[in-house]
Amino acid sequence: MDVVADRTVLAIDLGGTQIRAALITPDQVVHARRAVPTADEEGVTAVVGRICELAAAVRDEARREGLPEPTAIGISAPGPLDPWRGVVVAPPNLAGWHDVPLARTVGDALELPTFLDRDTNVAVRAEWLFGAARGAGTAIYITVSTGIGGGFIIDGHPVLGPDGIAGEVGHIVADLDGPRCGCGRTGHIEAIASGTALAREASLLVDREPAGRLASLVTGDEEVDAELLARAADDGDASAADILAHAWTALGAVCASLVNILNPDVIVIGGSIAEHRPALFDAVRHQIDRLAFDVPASRVRVAPAELKDDVSLIGLPPIVAERWSDPAFGVRTNMQGAQSL
Ligand SMILES: [Zn+2]
Repeated sequence: MDVVADRTVLAIDLGGTQIRAALITPDQVVHARRAVPTADEEGVTAVVGRICELAAAVRDEARREGLPEPTAIGISAPGPLDPWRGVVVAPPNLAGWHDVPLARTVGDALELPTFLDRDTNVAVRAEWLFGAARGAGTAIYITVSTGIGGGFIIDGHPVLGPDGIAGEVGHIVADLDGPRCGCGRTGHIEAIASGTALAREASLLVDREPAGRLASLVTGDEEVDAELLARAADDGDASAADILAHAWTALGAVCASLVNILNPDVIVIGGSIAEHRPALFDAVRHQIDRLAFDVPASRVRVAPAELKDDVSLIGLPPIVAERWSDPAFGVRTNMQGAQSL
């Protein structure tokens, strides 16, 4: 598959903490970047309103700079979602979102055809075409941050599944008796190795070892989060280091299973936690070598993501290009006439 991102796209990334938007020209240059807090506690209507305002502001700024007009909108959002109808179904990290017709609402507001995909599917597309998975036939992308997510390219084809759910790596069972996940089920890797899971374990450690290094780092209103846990581990807190090691081992076991199931050329790991913890990569490599079959284990590369914050924006133009002429995808209202002008 060789999809050329041949049009200027207004790219929007709806995240749990930030909404980001930019204009991306066919040469893959990102222009007029803007961001606002998501503030999902204010409700769905407020967030959707902010998305529309931000997109309009990016378009206005691009016009002032004399850049080409966008011919479509691409939106990256947390899953689960329906990429065909452009509906955000029920993401665990956006409070109150159920069956929100995001593509139609934003498309109507800006009068542009609009396409929606899961943030991790956008990211795997970006890393595959422009980043650490360039040239791979089969690539897995995994993000380790507040949650754990993923996306697959198999034999050169992005994989959605009949419901758009394929690639939800965070909800692979890694411990039958494991903790409860943000999705409501138990034992998923997200409940063991995500930032949220590490913060939970860190709080328990503070209670268990009030004289420990981690507890001594907690001052005033400081949040006991994954970052503080990692700092304590770096400072020699053995219990904190054990929690991290357990998380990375579990993540490595999940990766070893994926190696046996999909025989990937590369596993790209990104996200704010992965970016700052090189030990995670060592643990994943070790578990793959220990638990996966020899042949796929020796083939697979484990690589850090290259595209950082822009990953969920620059994967959008190729997705728009691929789906532009496919009537099964996207929302096209109020603009069919404009398109033919
Ligand atoms: Zn889950």
